[in-house]
Amino acid sequence: MSTCETATSSTENSEKFSNSNSSSSADVPKDATPSEGSRTESSSRDNKREASWPSVLFYIHLNILGVYGIFVLFSHTSAITFLFTSFLTLCGILGATAGAHRLWAHKTYQASTFLRFSLMLCQTLAGQGSIYDWVRMHRLHHEKFRTPDDPYYSDKDFLHAQVFANIRKLSPRQEKLLEQIDMRDLESDKIVMFQKRFYWLLYPILFVLLPINAPLEYWGDTVQAAIFVAFSLRYLLVLNVAWLINSAHFIWGLDKNHKQSDSNMVFVVTKSYWPQYHYLLPFDYQSGEFGNYGSGCTTAFIRVFAAMGMATKLQTMTTEAVKKGLTMAVDSGRPIVDCLKQAGAEDMCNLQREHYLKNERLH
Ligand SMILES: [Zn+2]
Repeated sequence: MSTCETATSSTENSEKFSNSNSSSSADVPKDATPSEGSRTESSSRDNKREASWPSVLFYIHLNILGVYGIFVLFSHTSAITFLFTSFLTLCGILGATAGAHRLWAHKTYQASTFLRFSLMLCQTLAGQGSIYDWVRMHRLHHEKFRTPDDPYYSDKDFLHAQVFANIRKLSPRQEKLLEQIDMRDLESDKIVMFQKRFYWLLYPILFVLLPINAPLEYWGDTVQAAIFVAFSLRYLLVLNVAWLINSAHFIWGLDKNHKQSDSNMVFVVTKSYWPQYHYLLPFDYQSGEFGNYGSGCTTAFIRVFAAMGMATKLQTMTTEAVKKGLTMAVDSGRPIVDCLKQAGAEDMCNLQREHYLKNERLH
């Protein structure tokens, strides 16, 4: 089977790095006329993001209960509840990374019905809203990356991108932009649309009731362990890891302008180019969400399912394709990203079907 369908079919336009869309009040000239002033006022109203108070209150409670869950974990929790919670947490993280992000948002590979259904269940265990809504926000994030229209934009620090962006409502302008995101591919996916339609039912049963009920019903653990560990602590962990998909570039990215307040973080983690790479060429299945490339749990997960024949058409870039793309850009004067995409798509035809078993990667 050919592996050469399409790096270029990706729907998102990911190379938006300029701040040209910025229209903050800081741009207002001092001698603006009243009409200009009122125009600017309505534009800043359009861009204003109010706090979502239910989300703020929920986040505060979740942090308190989740942190208490750490105490319960070491004092009132059986080993089996610990393993059960770890398993559900891992499923939720894979649902967000291998499912919502790499499969549905960026189409880095194709998945069989069984795998898509399993990933849909796992994504429900991430408690992040439906796949459809998550992907729509993530596509807007890529399209407006590092502009004030990006839902996870922050010109301050990691905390603003990781937490505050997620507990604010969208601005009226962002709501309009969100409606314009092309979602036809997901609308034709029955599993995604099933989850969207019945999310109100799937979420409380799969995400809340079953994880709390299982430790009480099947192995007689304490109520505290069921509520504070299997629910609150798990939710806190999976929520923050999933939020990190949109804000990891603050920690692992190399753009100094976007980690002014968190420069100390780079002493404890490895700086990496890969988050930037993902925003340039998001179709590569090997691109890790958290600063790695070609390794990690999610990439291994996709390879295992590829070996079983349930994940196909894994898209990636080779060193040769990058060299060819850069040469093409220099020769033709065309944008580098377009040339890299074209060279990548051409190179996929030359890759063997089982290229993922050879750990094909950029060096
Ligand atoms: Zn992405």
